[in-house]
Amino acid sequence: MSKKNTKYIFVTGGVTSSLGKGIVSASLGLLLKSRGFSVTIQKLDPYINIDPGTLNPYEHGECYVTEDGAETDLDLGHYERYLDAPTSQNNNVTTGRIYQTVIEKERRGEFLGKTVQVIPHITNEIKRRIKILAKQNYDIIITEIGGTVGDIESLPYIESVRQLKWELGESNSMVIHLTLLPYLASSGELKTKPSQHSVRQLMESGIQADVLVCRTEHKIPKEQRAKLAQFCNVSIDNVIECKDLETIYEVPLYLQKQNFDDVVLKELHLKSDQEADLKDWKNFLKRYKNPKKSVEIALVGKYVSLQDSYKSIAEAFIHAGADLETDVKIRWVYSGDLLADNLEENFAGIDGMLIAPGFGDRGIEGKILAAQYAREKNIPLLGICLGMQIMTIEFARNVLGYAKANSVEFDNATPEPVISLMEEQKNVVDKGGTMRLGAWKCSLKAGSKLHDVYGARTISERHRHRYEFNSEFREDFEKAGMMATGQNPETGLVETIELKEHPFYVGVQYHPEYKSTVATPHPLFKELIRKAAEKK
Ligand code: GLN
Repeated sequence: MSKKNTKYIFVTGGVTSSLGKGIVSASLGLLLKSRGFSVTIQKLDPYINIDPGTLNPYEHGECYVTEDGAETDLDLGHYERYLDAPTSQNNNVTTGRIYQTVIEKERRGEFLGKTVQVIPHITNEIKRRIKILAKQNYDIIITEIGGTVGDIESLPYIESVRQLKWELGESNSMVIHLTLLPYLASSGELKTKPSQHSVRQLMESGIQADVLVCRTEHKIPKEQRAKLAQFCNVSIDNVIECKDLETIYEVPLYLQKQNFDDVVLKELHLKSDQEADLKDWKNFLKRYKNPKKSVEIALVGKYVSLQDSYKSIAEAFIHAGADLETDVKIRWVYSGDLLADNLEENFAGIDGMLIAPGFGDRGIEGKILAAQYAREKNIPLLGICLGMQIMTIEFARNVLGYAKANSVEFDNATPEPVISLMEEQKNVVDKGGTMRLGAWKCSLKAGSKLHDVYGARTISERHRHRYEFNSEFREDFEKAGMMATGQNPETGLVETIELKEHPFYVGVQYHPEYKSTVATPHPLFKELIRKAAEKK
């Protein structure tokens, strides 16, 4: 067990989904961290998938990958970007995972003939998954419960919170309920009734919310605050307003102004003499909001209609852009529409390009055209994962003259499989959790562009892919000026490529975007922006 007396914060949501529980949790984490506490944030997702790795990005947005190779909800990206600290497999748990564990135990006979039930077996497993993080000696664990109070699927989680609150005791846990105050334009009023109802619904499950965080388009008038406090059994100081803001990165400061951190510390019977030091955060915001330059980067992908599919990439541009006091405008380009004769129209005026990660063959030929365009027109390009594979195929076809070059993901019978399946992937049948995942080391060639960009010879970056650069072709590529400059020190797998004669034409098999945080913008994104600004 943990040596510390770990405190638990549960974040629930009412009225509707998409209120931004992830951002509020991350903001609270940041505030508490700045008061000197060690904090981690966990997300419990009520769906049956074992993890979001197999979910369509259109439906669920990006799949975020942790250092230890867990495929997780995109909210974990927010946690890492705000806290500047890694999360892990334990920070994201789904109903599928809970049931899988319980059912496996049942098969092993570990329940000794008992009937296995939602209460206590499923709830015990949920509680175990929450408390497991305490082994890492955090002062505070924030657990975000996915979904909306009242959903059938969320019930076992809500019940587990009720039990835990009771077991842990009054001073060791608290519930923050995030709710919505709809604005009725016709009467010019913010309405509190839906929030009253969702708090009541929570109470029907035996949970009294300790703090209300109210999402709203307008300032909450005093009377409405009083009303919420009165109807929901919370003190008026515990009604926190979370108004729509220009950027999600303002949320921590907005909440701090209302002493959100003090309110929470008081509920948890914690004291801190440390004033929140958010100097660096404020400095980041200042630079972000007052850029001196601007660049436009085309983001070429097939999931562009749901921009959450590329969440970490968009955020990485914000971090790096702020660092360089450069406004980065993203032009979302759907690769499925790209044709040789509309490239000019699609890319006119761009300063840089990013070819996005992805799966499956839709939109591939459009991405290849985009890579060719950037190569021939000297447009700085960063290709990520599938993006790097695309750059490889394009170069093989148009420079090396391998007309049919392809990835075996798209053409199993290609005579020039420049991107191929790793040996250990060949017999893999299951789709979920079987890719090359998580952090892997990469050695960079001395004197390469990437060595210069990272300022280090050995780096570690996160992966999520099945296919690889086929080293059989490495010499051909290098002779023609496309250098494989990064490789896995143990396996020799090619992790990065870069073109000698080009201002910036870099492909990486890994996902740099997962490691970009507000405090530590990623050097590759910075370099792409720098080169784009130079081109301009
Ligand atoms: N589909 C490619 C692979 O599996 C690329 C994956 C990605 O872009 N994340 O190798």
